[in-house]
Amino acid sequence: MADTAHFGAREVLLEDKQALVDGVFRSVAQRYDLMNDLMSFGLHRAWKDALVTAVNPPKNRPFALIDIAGGTGDVASRVIAAGGKGTRAVVCDINPDMLAVGRERAALRGLGEALAFTEANAEALPFPDRSFDAATIAFGIRNVPRIEEALKEAYRVLKIGGRFLCLEFSAVNVPGLDRLYDLYSFNVIPALGRAVVGDAESYRYLVESIRRFPKPQEFAGMMRAAGFARVSYQLMTGGIVALHSGWRL
Ligand code: SAM
Repeated sequence: MADTAHFGAREVLLEDKQALVDGVFRSVAQRYDLMNDLMSFGLHRAWKDALVTAVNPPKNRPFALIDIAGGTGDVASRVIAAGGKGTRAVVCDINPDMLAVGRERAALRGLGEALAFTEANAEALPFPDRSFDAATIAFGIRNVPRIEEALKEAYRVLKIGGRFLCLEFSAVNVPGLDRLYDLYSFNVIPALGRAVVGDAESYRYLVESIRRFPKPQEFAGMMRAAGFARVSYQLMTGGIVALHSGWRL
């Protein structure tokens, strides 16, 4: 039987998932960051701040970050702002439209030297082994068809002693909040997508894909299987988001 993957609530052929995901991000690229602010009431900023705090870029020595599925470069620019002069980041994303928005924004902010954008698949990163001090992926991993391959690649490109951090939507664990969250996600978010981006379907996919993503314990196990050590995770905002951490030792 052919391999399949989840595309939101649908089961699709594994090799078809990426093209479907690419269609979603092509459609939302121009208004992607605005929609994040609207959908999360600005909370995505606090979640990303927690990620940047964990990355903890040094002030006084060179530091190389790869931000996988980095989209418009939001996380990478925050890491550069938090680090010292020697902090460099590469944003890898499979979608040229997301990267184009990111490049334009980075040029406006004068981040040209510190921030590079590369079109690449998380399942096959175009970098040598042991190139980076840290690897991040924020709200990206659930879109990747072969999650195990992406984890192996993140591990491969990390230096020994490097840290992998993954921010992803998770499962709400507060009674009462879960029903409210479902109501909001399945009704308000697609309507917001229609109003702001002219596309409800893409946002329906994003909501459904969250429900299909492995629970934190299971994802931690997948990280261990990829080779990561000292794997841990913290849940934020009642479990809406999980921040996983693992080290290449
Ligand atoms: N990390 C950014 C952020 O937090 O703002 C963007 C997250 S966005 C929800 C998910 C991103 O994953 C999109 O930019 C999409 O193009 C990218 N993506 C999906 N599949 C990918 C793959 N196989 N390899 C690399 N990037 C991928």
